[in-house]
Amino acid sequence: MSARAQNTITVVGTFVQAGKTPPADAVAEVKLFQSVSSKFPMKEKTWKWVVIVDDTMWQQLMIKLGFDPNTPLQYYGQTDIDHQVTFIRGWALIHPELFNQVPEHIIAHEMAHVFLHSRDEKLVDDQALTWIKAARKEKAAVQMAGVR
Ligand SMILES: [Zn+2]
Repeated sequence: MSARAQNTITVVGTFVQAGKTPPADAVAEVKLFQSVSSKFPMKEKTWKWVVIVDDTMWQQLMIKLGFDPNTPLQYYGQTDIDHQVTFIRGWALIHPELFNQVPEHIIAHEMAHVFLHSRDEKLVDDQALTWIKAARKEKAAVQMAGVR
C-alpha cells in the first residue's frame, strides 16, 4: 500500500449526505482532486483532505476559520499544519474560468504547505510552481514519446 492510499479524502457539502449518492459536482471535484494530486509528491501518511463541494459551505468554513467574509481576497484552499488537515474549495477546482485559477495550482499550493510544513506563502507557492512545471514537462515528454 502506498503512503498516499492511507490519506483520507472527505467530501463536505450542502447536498452531501452519508449513505446517499453524492451530487455530480462532488464526484467531479473528488475525481479531479485525485488525478491532479497524484502528480505531486506526498510524504505524509495520515493527512486529511476535505473537499468542500459548494461555495455556500466554503464561505461558512471561511467564517468559522476566522476570515472576514467581506474580504475581496479569494481563498481556494486552507491547510492546518497542526491538525494535519487541508480544505480544498471544490467549486473552484471545477470552475477554473470563474476564478481564473487552474486546479493544478490550487492543489499543488496546498500540497506544498503540507510537504514543506510551512506557512510561508512565497516559499510554498514557489514549490508549487516548480512541481507544476515539472509535471507539465513530463506530460509533454510522454506525448512526444507517443508520437514516435
Ligand atoms: Zn497558502
